[in-house]
Amino acid sequence: MKNEKTTNGSYTPDMIWEEFKVTPDALLGAKILESSVYLTRKCNLKCQYCKIIKTELPLELTMEQWIEVMDILEGLGVRFVNIAGGEPTVLKGLGRLISHINNNTTLAHSIVSNSLFNDEKLKEMVDAGLKAYVASIDVMDGADKRLHDIRKSSAGMRMLERLKGKVPYLCGNIVISARNLSSVVEVTRYLSDNGIWVNVCPVIWGRGDKWESVEEADNAYRLTNEHRERLEDIAKRLVELKRNGALLLPTESYLEGLPTYGPDLSWKCYSETEPTSPSRLIVDADGSLMTCINMRGEVAKRYTVFDLKDEDTYRGFVEDWWEDAKRCQGCYWSTMVTAKQRQLMLEEFKKEVLKGNGTQG
Ligand code: SF4
Repeated sequence: MKNEKTTNGSYTPDMIWEEFKVTPDALLGAKILESSVYLTRKCNLKCQYCKIIKTELPLELTMEQWIEVMDILEGLGVRFVNIAGGEPTVLKGLGRLISHINNNTTLAHSIVSNSLFNDEKLKEMVDAGLKAYVASIDVMDGADKRLHDIRKSSAGMRMLERLKGKVPYLCGNIVISARNLSSVVEVTRYLSDNGIWVNVCPVIWGRGDKWESVEEADNAYRLTNEHRERLEDIAKRLVELKRNGALLLPTESYLEGLPTYGPDLSWKCYSETEPTSPSRLIVDADGSLMTCINMRGEVAKRYTVFDLKDEDTYRGFVEDWWEDAKRCQGCYWSTMVTAKQRQLMLEEFKKEVLKGNGTQG
């Protein structure tokens, strides 16, 4: 379970290589390895900080169209699709979508949910063969120091417990903020000891388009310079946990970058000087292609995922995507950072093959 930059600057394989059916042939044909789809922007909650639900789209894709989207992703060589929202479980036909992915594609998939759905929906997803479930785990200093309390305090945690033995991969997502620095490591250890994978990400605020029209993260939650020392300690302890086999999804280099980029949010998914490809293909609820999980950008006005059936259009999209991305000040989304690392692996692999340095392995 390694995903690290070696001393010579190349990347070694990680979970995606091991678990997501990545073969040399699949890699050679792949344009991009990961995708995230906003199945809907609708939600059964209205969280103050959530900007997804604040952008309403006149028309969202139907489930039949989403099924077609999965085939398009497969054609692009995508290995992993994350199904998010809004709240994906508010839509009818989610089971059909999961069955289609399992039976007609080679994509690995996960669903991110707020865990507020009924037993019928739960059965529909499990029966369809849901592979990975991601729930938010609310971690706050104080209450969650009594670790068994997170079971009671978090709908996500309760759902993860219920899904044990029914869904192969369970994952808790923890947002690191100024309000939970004392608890993050202990909660991570607790979840991992209970067979639950953990993703961590610093609180991201004030980035992307339309931020000015939504409420920014409360100042009390933001990470600032004054938190760097504590973040260094957290990063060190998380890396140690990971090295000792904890079920931590982010790579070591991501964890090590937390003290630098967590407060600044200055990591960039693109190069300012050289054309860069997107590392995750983000599809909005209306089928538009977004700049990233945070921004619709100019590309959303020009491209939908259905345009990518045409090879030349993909090239044009990548060029326009870079122009969009260059306007961004940065972030430190863990999914985007790890996706970038995997995209670099893909590019390096292809270069090696082109040089004739071995196609096997
Ligand atoms: S740096 Fe890239 S991934 Fe991060 S917010 Fe900007 S465009 Fe999105």
